Amino acid sequence: MREGGETDLWLDPWIAGQSLLEILGPQSDGVEYRGLTCRRIIRGGVWRPEEYRFTAQLGGEIRQVQITPDVLSDVWVWAPPGYTEGAGEFRFSSCYDLVRSHFDKIEEYDFIWGKGLARKMQLSAYKLVLGRLLTRDRLLRFGVPVPDPTCVLCEAENESIGHLFFQCQVAWSIWVEQSRRYLGGVGRERDFREILQWIGDGRGRGQSWARRARLRLAASVWHVWRERNRRIYEGLSTPLVGILHNIESDVLVMSP
Ligand SMILES: [Zn+2]
Repeated sequence: MREGGETDLWLDPWIAGQSLLEILGPQSDGVEYRGLTCRRIIRGGVWRPEEYRFTAQLGGEIRQVQITPDVLSDVWVWAPPGYTEGAGEFRFSSCYDLVRSHFDKIEEYDFIWGKGLARKMQLSAYKLVLGRLLTRDRLLRFGVPVPDPTCVLCEAENESIGHLFFQCQVAWSIWVEQSRRYLGGVGRERDFREILQWIGDGRGRGQSWARRARLRLAASVWHVWRERNRRIYEGLSTPLVGILHNIESDVLVMSP
């Protein structure tokens, strides 16, 4: 954590992998969940959780999150419970096995930590694998008022992680378009984990193909999530061709 300005106070899972909303449940005294960042409870480089009258235990857990003013921006670190080595720094080699053991499949690990993946995409990939993206169905379950549960991309079905990645007709067409053109085919299942499995199987296409496929999948996920947020929170929408163009630009930067 640097100044906390890029981490959502209530919705991002920044306290030992959980969000404040998940830990505390919805608050009754009119707390505004959107738009508040962790900067709200940092003063002069020190945590000030007392601003919110959190319990002493939660305040203690918050103070465990390191503030390092000398890094460029908030950095997400893989830190499972009890893991202290590296003191807040992600070390690829030292925690490879540790991290890997937390994922069902090696494909999930490679998807999140694969070489070349842009940091901005790592977080959405991580949250998707853990099922932690706050889609409208989950917000409703937490008791957060959501005016409309419908998916803003297709406006045909309710939004959930399963729907948005990739049951949704719009999200699916974004993936199919790229997969056909650049990966030489499309897996049959419209499901994120099935697609990862399809990439992992590879059918003799080799490591370099699998790596490109994972980068492309992560870019698709990130851009679908971004487009969804832009439509909901900014009232802006990008046509399909524009989204594909943006994915292409990012994939070009990440590809070897
Ligand atoms: Zn949809």
